[in-house]
Amino acid sequence: MRTIGLIGGMSWESSVEYYRLINQQVRDRLGPLRSAQLLMYSVDFGPVEQAQHAGRWDDAAAILVDAARRLEAGGADCVVLCTNTMHKVAGQIQAAIGIPFLHIADPTGDAAVAAGALKVGLLGTAFTMEQDFIKDRLAAKGLTVLVPDAEERAAVHRIIYDELCVGVISEDSRRVYQQVIESLAERGAQAIILGCTEITLLIKPEHSELPLLDTTELHARAAVGFALGE
Ligand code: GLU
Repeated sequence: MRTIGLIGGMSWESSVEYYRLINQQVRDRLGPLRSAQLLMYSVDFGPVEQAQHAGRWDDAAAILVDAARRLEAGGADCVVLCTNTMHKVAGQIQAAIGIPFLHIADPTGDAAVAAGALKVGLLGTAFTMEQDFIKDRLAAKGLTVLVPDAEERAAVHRIIYDELCVGVISEDSRRVYQQVIESLAERGAQAIILGCTEITLLIKPEHSELPLLDTTELHARAAVGFALGE
């Protein structure tokens, strides 16, 4: 089995999910007492989040490049960055290491195509919904990506940072997300990409009228596939 290197902490609420999902999948595939070989380097989210909101992406990249190098030096065979938003600096991270970087948008886009959902709604932070670093990678797989309107994007973003990243799960916020999913469905979305690794904590399949493509689950699955040599 190859060793998975996780960059976590953004936020740790979702890093826990990665750790659980990866180990569950290895157990399901290899047997009850099997578990993943992995390293996690978990950063302090505070300085990363401050750099994001101040537009100091090179400062955030430096923190993650350092984390990726530590994982490689520790024996990781790949790097998995446990957040969609920080994939904005994926290129800088990949350039700094000699092991594969498993991009979160690749298994997500492949799952949408496999499900026949070529028009997808994307939920995530404002950075992810408004900038091109995830959307372009999905478009390259043939997907049309819809994002919520400005007011809805602000609400989705606020709930991620003020609630989901600090472990707050609220029924009111779930209803906000459900309304956003409804409007994306009305505009023709065939599936919803949970393009922030904490949204899975709030929105489960039974909360959505459209099929969900959960980036946390799909990214964890891709990591397990890599570890098992696929
Ligand atoms: N985990 C989130 C994501 O997937 C948001 C937190 C962050 O900005 O990294 O985008």
